[in-house]
Amino acid sequence: MSAGGALVLFSGGQDSTTCLAWALERFDRVETLGFDYGQRHRIELECRDTLRTGIAALKPEWAARLGDDHTLALDALGRVSETALTRDTAIAFEAGGLPNTFVPGRNILFLTFAAALAYRRSLTHIVGGMCETDYSGYPDCRDDTIKALQVALNLGMDRRFVLHTPLMWIDKAETWALANDLGGQALVDLIVEDSHTCYLGTRGMRHAWGHGCGQCPACDLRARGFSKFTAEAVPPSDA
Ligand code: ZN
Repeated sequence: MSAGGALVLFSGGQDSTTCLAWALERFDRVETLGFDYGQRHRIELECRDTLRTGIAALKPEWAARLGDDHTLALDALGRVSETALTRDTAIAFEAGGLPNTFVPGRNILFLTFAAALAYRRSLTHIVGGMCETDYSGYPDCRDDTIKALQVALNLGMDRRFVLHTPLMWIDKAETWALANDLGGQALVDLIVEDSHTCYLGTRGMRHAWGHGCGQCPACDLRARGFSKFTAEAVPPSDA
């Protein structure tokens, strides 16, 4: 068990729910932070309470460690970024190769606000679900961006925050496997049923991998990862 409490960037999606379980396994006090920036998939914010209650029910020690929840409204981020995540336009790839769901600097802002809150709450560790492995090329998900930001935040706030990104080098199938390692089938089931990933904010029908439109890049990634995870999870036959 590491010393010092943790603040988890907790959106209510698959990745951040896995990160929350990862943090509950490691830190004696874990608080959560969600951002409302006018995202089309704001429904993910409504999943947060259900997920927090569900995850606390999985292990008594997790229930004991799970602390306060915080939400911050970042309306300004929605106003400066006219992207497919905050506007009712089709998701597409732009000339630069990035999808138009890219909100410039989103994770830089999120982590900066998280550090300001962690400072006030005397929390040392900040945990986020950024991932370089099968991301959409978002530059603020890169390991180097996070490491540079850790240095900048520690210099600028005169603290020794540690930024953790447990999903940085694993793919979506391995993220499902990590959830399984941390909380077993019960955690996998909770993530399938109650986390939200779909960019369009559609709960839609219940697929094997959870709810969503089934078509957008986020649903596609989640569905393909789940299918790979369940295929790998099948024990080999004796033959
Ligand atoms: Zn979708």
